[in-house]
Amino acid sequence: MIARARDLGPDDPADTPVLVAGAGPVGLALAIELGRLGIGCMVVEKRDGAVSVPKMSQVSARAMEFCRRWGIADAVRAAGWPENHPGDVVYQRSLTGPELGRLPIPSYAVRDRLDFTPESPCHCPQIFFDPILADHAKTRAPVRLRYHLGLESFTQDEGAVRATLRDSLTGETQTVTARYLVGCDGPGGVVREALGIGLGGLGVVAHSINIFFRAPQLVTLHDKGWARFYRSIDEAGCWSEMIAIDGQELWRLTVFDDASPDADAEAYLQRLFGGEFPYEIIDVTHWERRDHVARRYQSGRVFLAGDSAHQCSPTGGYGMHTGIEEAMNIAWKLAAVIERWGGPELLGSYDSERRPIAQRNVALATEAFRTISAIPAIDDAAAAIAAAGKAAPAVKILRAAISGISRSDYHKFQYAYEDSPICIADGTPPPQGGLSFTPSARPGSRAPHAWLKDGRSTLDLFGTGFALLRLGAAPPDTEGLRHAAARAGVPVSETSIADPALADLYGAALILVRPDGHVAWRGDAAPEDPTEVIERIRGAGG
Ligand SMILES: Cc1cc2nc3c(=O)[nH]c(=O)nc-3n(C[C@H](O)[C@H](O)[C@H](O)COP(=O)(O)OP(=O)(O)OC[C@H]3O[C@@H](n4cnc5c(N)ncnc54)[C@H](O)[C@@H]3O)c2cc1C
Repeated sequence: MIARARDLGPDDPADTPVLVAGAGPVGLALAIELGRLGIGCMVVEKRDGAVSVPKMSQVSARAMEFCRRWGIADAVRAAGWPENHPGDVVYQRSLTGPELGRLPIPSYAVRDRLDFTPESPCHCPQIFFDPILADHAKTRAPVRLRYHLGLESFTQDEGAVRATLRDSLTGETQTVTARYLVGCDGPGGVVREALGIGLGGLGVVAHSINIFFRAPQLVTLHDKGWARFYRSIDEAGCWSEMIAIDGQELWRLTVFDDASPDADAEAYLQRLFGGEFPYEIIDVTHWERRDHVARRYQSGRVFLAGDSAHQCSPTGGYGMHTGIEEAMNIAWKLAAVIERWGGPELLGSYDSERRPIAQRNVALATEAFRTISAIPAIDDAAAAIAAAGKAAPAVKILRAAISGISRSDYHKFQYAYEDSPICIADGTPPPQGGLSFTPSARPGSRAPHAWLKDGRSTLDLFGTGFALLRLGAAPPDTEGLRHAAARAGVPVSETSIADPALADLYGAALILVRPDGHVAWRGDAAPEDPTEVIERIRGAGG
């Protein structure tokens, strides 16, 4: 039963500390993390929660690290993709035409572990991923997940947000009070619109069509074998990609650019195959491929996260990845202010830390899409040369494009919250850009992964409050830091690890890691003024 709205003073209880609008993957990730931190939240979703058509298919390695934190990584890995299927990206004239290039990606069963993360990216399309998140969210006691309940409107003042919710089955409305509202309501949601926050970016970069279909025999009807992606290049250039959804019988063909409302889905499937084949179309969706980032992520007590805050081309798998990182960034900050150890600048750091990353990721996605769609036409003659193992000029361009596109994992890790008001820079420069990821514990970066002697990852030490790492044989005393944290009510757990390799990796003897796994401060000696450090990292530093 939801109480009626009322005026709230700073000490009055709200109906819920946090109201989350939208139970897509980002709203659910936020709810799970808030629940894990012991913060009550109510998630309202205007639909019934069924996901019948997949958008996202790749859960990034970073998102998998959070699934690991929540104890659902094994379930995600097992849900979407048979472990013996390779995850290759095939470039072809058509499924039955010559193969032009291939980015080989080994199957789960034989792939090597990445050295910079305890997890690996996972193929788990949204029809499988969202239900895993929703089921898990329901097990977190402080989370209330309500379907058929849409956020209609809201007001806010210094004490609270008052939201009007509409039951989509009965049409009845009700009102709730919350300390904070997070709009995870996707690109067409009401929160950003109601706040009057505009969108920056390039706008619509293409009009795409998703054709979701069932074809159980498809992989037996051509010579390309199992792969995750099949990109087709013909006289019109690179015009489409087909993705395997369940590694069995479900597929989605995405036509990159066709704005015509009466586009012929059947003709596109035949062009993909190079002739007729048996299939059943499940769904055809026309959608805009966009390059957008909201001009602000916060207005008072209301925040944006996920596709309500940014929209990008799916190329490279940056969309949900960026949204889940946002959920993790705002979750601990909301928890800190609700528990009253977060300072007045903490919530404002959400925008300054995350919006530049969204701008970068959206631009990378657009660039990746443009690289693929600029792959030139490959005619029969060039295709025949390629099939004979040689490279015609167009095929050389294709192969260069393939190596560029394969770097999205590196981009998803190689960044830091530069100029963050709540991280204390140590003056070291960012690692030199290259073709692979260089782990770093520069303040603002994701704290690096390393395996510990007991089989855990360093990442398994993070997540509840701040983690204070004492590294190396003789790390400095941390009493001053611990006392300063205790005085401010900041939760800090301390771990000492003598392994000198870890001190080398982290570049210092003392490290303070935030609940979202990013480094807030590091030093070889205890700080002269520990209170100043604690005040900065809790957002009270001036
Ligand atoms: C073809 C395609 C492929 C993609 N592939 C990938 C990929 O491989 N990897 C990746 O990381 N990303 C990918 N993405 C992007 C990814 O799907 C999105 O970034 C992700 O779904 C965004 O999640 P979200 O929770 O922010 O928004 P959504 O998934 O849009 O969820 C928003 C939810 O809010 C609900 N809602 C809306 N308004 C209200 C309201 N007023 N009240 C209550 N509820 C409301 C909606 O019903 C919906 O359930 C892909 C996208 C597309 C289109």
